[in-house]
Amino acid sequence: MARGILFILSAPSGAGKTSLVKALLERDPALTLSVSCTTRAARPGESDGVHYHFLDRERFRSEIAAGVFLEHAEVFGNLYGTREPDVRDCLECGQDLVLEIDWQGARQVRQRFEDAVSVFVLPPSVEELERRLRGRGTDADEVIARRMQQAHDEMLHYAEYDYLVVNDRFETALDALAAIATAERLRLGQQRPRLAPLLDPLDRRPN
Ligand code: GDP
Ligand code: ADP
Ligand code: 5GP
Repeated sequence: MARGILFILSAPSGAGKTSLVKALLERDPALTLSVSCTTRAARPGESDGVHYHFLDRERFRSEIAAGVFLEHAEVFGNLYGTREPDVRDCLECGQDLVLEIDWQGARQVRQRFEDAVSVFVLPPSVEELERRLRGRGTDADEVIARRMQQAHDEMLHYAEYDYLVVNDRFETALDALAAIATAERLRLGQQRPRLAPLLDPLDRRPN
């Protein structure tokens, strides 16, 4: 069985990462979304274990000390992290997994999983990014101001990623993400275990 593909998706807050991933998962049921841990408060409509595992700072710190996290980072003054056993279990079962994490986390994951495929989502402009953040209506003004500042810092890291997708027209960006998933699944290393009945006899032929 082929090992699952690990996709990393990063974007400045408000670029549309969460909406795109939700739509991508609906279109592609073979993808699983990793549920991160965070110390931030749940937003209205978010539930524990579905959108995030909401932990208090003390519990988060103790899990860091116990080495539970594949990666963790402080974003907007809150701790965010991905639990390593969840990732390994998923990949070993052949499931393709999406991590929605920031650039600091992406760096840590690449060091541990060299085959990880990373995608950076950009907004069409900084003005449009602010419009979307405000339009979402989930964050207070001061939170939005802080997120805009950090959005710029996040965007400075675009060149560390394998793929860049601009989320201008939503459907176009979604098609691009689906195309990346398809292309990665067609790589030789992924296809070989899947196509063993066809390929094994070919490999045995003397040339
Ligand atoms: P986070 O801050 O990185 O977690 O970003 P979130 O995913 O929580 O939300 C950012 C906001 O952008 C959300 O309100 C999204 O619904 C919004 N958004 C994402 N995609 C679209 C889209 O295609 N159209 C519109 N109108 N809004 C979108
Ligand atoms: P992120 O997870 O990156 O913070 P969201 O998915 O929450 O971003 O998207 C931020 C806001 O922008 C949401 O209100 C969402 O509906 C909107 N949005 C996302 N993509 C687009 C798009 N292509 N055009 C217009 N609005 C968008
Ligand atoms: P939000 O609080 O708006 O859902 O997410 C804020 C930021 O935290 C986003 O940039 C997101 O990519 C990042 N983030 C979410 N989960 C994780 C995680 O598990 N690890 C890391 N490093 N960043 C995360």
